[in-house]
Amino acid sequence: MSSLATHQVHAGPQSLSDRINSLAESQTLEMAKKARELKAKGIDVISLNLGEPDFQTPQHIKDAAKKAIDEGFTFYTPVAGIPDLRKGIADKLNRENGLDVKPENIVVSTGAKQSLANVLLCLVNPGDEVIIFAPFWVSYMEMVKLAEGTPVIISGSLENEYKVTAEQVRAAITPKTKAIMFSSPCNPTGAVFSREELTEIAKVVKAHEDNGGNPIYIIADEIYEYINFTGEHFSIGSLDFIKDNVITVNGFSKGFAMTGWRVGYIAAAKWIADACDKMQGQVTSGTCSIAQKASVAAITGDMTPTREMAAAYLRRRDLAKQLLDQIPGIKTNNPEGAFYIFPDVSAYFGKSYGDYHIKNSYDLCIYLLNEAHVSIVDGDSFGAPPCVRISTAAADEQIKEAVRRIGEALAKLS
Ligand code: PMP
Ligand code: GLU
Repeated sequence: MSSLATHQVHAGPQSLSDRINSLAESQTLEMAKKARELKAKGIDVISLNLGEPDFQTPQHIKDAAKKAIDEGFTFYTPVAGIPDLRKGIADKLNRENGLDVKPENIVVSTGAKQSLANVLLCLVNPGDEVIIFAPFWVSYMEMVKLAEGTPVIISGSLENEYKVTAEQVRAAITPKTKAIMFSSPCNPTGAVFSREELTEIAKVVKAHEDNGGNPIYIIADEIYEYINFTGEHFSIGSLDFIKDNVITVNGFSKGFAMTGWRVGYIAAAKWIADACDKMQGQVTSGTCSIAQKASVAAITGDMTPTREMAAAYLRRRDLAKQLLDQIPGIKTNNPEGAFYIFPDVSAYFGKSYGDYHIKNSYDLCIYLLNEAHVSIVDGDSFGAPPCVRISTAAADEQIKEAVRRIGEALAKLS
C-alpha cells in the first residue's frame, strides 16, 4: 500500500499524450491570442496576424442561412455534405477549374483545415514522408506529424518568389514519399504557381510512378483561389495524366469571407473521398447544416462581392509593399495572390532595444507587438526563419498606421 502511495501520480498535465505534447501550437492563433490579451488591457493593437478577411459575409449568403434556420434545416446532414452542396461544388470545379469530378468525389468538412487533416490521416502511415513546400502554412507540418508522417521540407527562395521548382521536388522524392503538399496562391508568401510550373511538378510525380515508384499524392490547397492577381488560377488536378493522384482542397473562408462558418472541401478519387467520409464520420460528422445551406448560396450565387474583395486585397497589397519598401533593411516579396506580404527582416536580427535582444523572427514579432502594438507572425512557424508574415486583410488606414509604427520601432533598434 505504502509503496503504491509513494509512486502515486495525481491527475494533471503530466498525463497528456505524447501526441499532444509533441504538437506545436498554431502560431497564427497564438499571436492572435497575444494581441487580444493586450487589447483587453485597453492597448490600441493593430492585428495583422490572422489571415482573416475583414469583410462581412455577402448578404445573399447570410440570407440563405437565415432561411435555412426558418425552414427548420437544423438536423444532422450526411457526413460528406448535403447533396446540393456537393453538386454545387462538383459543378464549380468542372466549370471553373477543369476538374473531372462528380458529387461522389466531394467531401465537405468543418473548414479546409479539417479537409487537410482528413486527407493526411487517411493516406499517411507512420514513417511515410510528406514533402511540404516552404514557406508553408503553419498547420501543414503539425498535421503531418499528427498522422505520424515525416515532413520533408523543400524551400523556395526569395529570388524565385519563394516557389520551389520541379527539380527540387524530384530531388526530394524517396521510396518513402507518400504525398506532396502546397498552397497556391500561397499562405504565407502570396506566390502563385503558373500552369507551366505545376505541369512540370506533375510530370515529376508521374515519371516517378511510371518508373515503378510508389504513387505520390498531390495535396493542392487552393483556398486562396479567388484572391489571385495574375489573371489565371491553375488547378493541378485538371491535368489528365495526374488527376487520379490529386486531392484538391478548397473552402469558403477566404473567397467568400466566411471564416467563422467553417466550411471546406476536397475533391478526390472516390476511394479517397470515401475514406475521408469514414474518418469524418467518427470525428465530427457533417459540418453545420445552416453553414452548408449558406455555402450553396455562395457557390451558386453572384460572384460580384468576391471580385470586389479581391480588388481591395490587390490595392492593399500595393499599399503595404510600397510602404514597407521604404523601411531600410526590409526585403519584400511580390505577392501575386492571397492577402499576406512576407518580407525578409533578418537585417534586424542581432540588434537590441535597451536590454531586449532580437535573436530571431519571433523575438522581432514580440518586440513589434510590445513596442509598436502591431501584431504579426514570425516566419519560423512557416518554415522561413528570416521572414515575418503581415496580413493585408485589413483596412487601408490600419495598414498605413501599422507600417508607420513598424518603421518607427525598427528605427529604435541598434
Ligand atoms: N489552408 C490555408 C493555406 C489557409 O491559409 C487556411 C486558413 N486558415 C486553411 C487552409 C484553412 O481554412 P479554413 O479551415 O478556414 O477553411
Ligand atoms: N489561415 C489563417 C492564417 O493563416 C487562419 C488562422 C489559422 O487557421 O491558422 O492566419
